[in-house]
Amino acid sequence: MYAIKVELKLNNKERTKMAQHAGFARFVYNHGLYLMQQLDHKEYKGSSGKKINEIKKIFTGFTKKQPEFEWINKLSSRVYQNSFASLKNAFTRWHKGLGKSPQFKRQKDQRSFTVDSSNGKVVLDTGKRIKIPTLGTFMLKESLPCRYVTQTFTISETAGRWFVSFSVDAQKVPPLMHEVAEPVGVDLGVKCFATCSDGSKYVAPQPYQKAKTKLGKQQWRNRNKVLGNHRLGVKASNNAKKHYAKLAKIHAHVANIRKDFLHKTTTELAKKYALLHIEDLNTSGMIANHKLASAISDLGFYEFRRQLGYKQKHYGNQVMLVDRWYPSSKTCHNCANVQPMPLSERTYACYHCGHVVDRDLNAALNLASVPIGKLKPLEP
Ligand SMILES: [Zn+2]
Repeated sequence: MYAIKVELKLNNKERTKMAQHAGFARFVYNHGLYLMQQLDHKEYKGSSGKKINEIKKIFTGFTKKQPEFEWINKLSSRVYQNSFASLKNAFTRWHKGLGKSPQFKRQKDQRSFTVDSSNGKVVLDTGKRIKIPTLGTFMLKESLPCRYVTQTFTISETAGRWFVSFSVDAQKVPPLMHEVAEPVGVDLGVKCFATCSDGSKYVAPQPYQKAKTKLGKQQWRNRNKVLGNHRLGVKASNNAKKHYAKLAKIHAHVANIRKDFLHKTTTELAKKYALLHIEDLNTSGMIANHKLASAISDLGFYEFRRQLGYKQKHYGNQVMLVDRWYPSSKTCHNCANVQPMPLSERTYACYHCGHVVDRDLNAALNLASVPIGKLKPLEP
C-alpha cells in the first residue's frame, strides 16, 4: 500500500464546501474529545474505543438532531464517522505510547477531513476528474496516470491549495511504456536545474530573487510594525496583521512556484525515462559552501529526489543513486581524464584530449555511464 496525493482544481463554491467539511471534522473531533474528558473514568469502565463508540451513538442519536446542529445534516455523514475513527486512533496510539495525549484541533491547524465509500472499494479512472464518495466529482490539476482502486479519501489544505490523497495497492499499477529505455544521467545544478545526458534541460523559474526584492521592499516599508508582544502586553495593530499576512502570502507564492516546477519536472522525467541515474547529494559538503547551500535549498533538490523516489511506483521507472564520491563533473566523458573543475567553469575543456563540452552535459553523460558498482537504487 502506498499513498497518492494530487491537487484539486476547485472553484469558490467547491472550496467553501471543502472548508465546511473540514470545520465539521474539527468540530466532531473536538466535541468527542471534550466528552471523553468529561467522562468520569472511574464510574465508566472500559476501553477508550468502547467509550468513543458510546459517544458516537449519542452524537448520532441526539446531538445531530438538535436544531442548532442542523447544518451537520447538509454535510457528508462519512466525515464524522471518520473523525470518530481518527479520535479512537489517537487514543490507541497514546495508550500504546506511540504519541502524546489527543489534543484539541485549533482553527489555525491544517484543515483536513476524511471520507470513505461505505459500499467498499471504488475505481478511479485515468484523467483529470475524480469522483469522491459522498462529496461529488471534482477536477484535478494533473491527470491520474492510470486507474486506481481505493476506498478512503483524505482532503487537506496547504497554503490555500486543496489536495486529495488516497492509498492504493502497489501491485495494481500497470507498467508504463517509457520513451527512453537506456540509462539517462541527470546532473543537478544551480545554473540549470537538471541536465539530462540526452541533452534535454530543465531550467528552474527564478522566483527567489524576484520575490526577495519584493520581500525586502515590504519589510523595509513596514520596519516599525510589530506583531504584538505577549510578554510586554503589546497588542498587534490591524496594519501589522495585514502586513504579516501579506508577507506570508509572498512566501507561499514562492513555495508554490517551486512546487509546481518540481512536480512537473519529476513527472516528466519519470514518464519519459525508464532508468534514471542521479547524484547522491552530499549534504555536509554542500552546506559547507554557504552560497551554494542557499541556492540548493531554494531549488529544492531534496524535494526533487523525494518526488522522483515515490513517483517510481506510479510510472514504473527506476531511479538509481550514483556514489557521491564519483567525480562526474571532473571526469572527461571522452577520455576519462580527471581534472579540477571549479564551479565557475561552465565548459569542460579537457587538458588531455582537447574535448570541449558543456559542463553539465559532461557530468550527465558520466552519470549515465557510471560503473554498476557505484549505483544503488533510490528507495521510495
Ligand atoms: Zn578528455
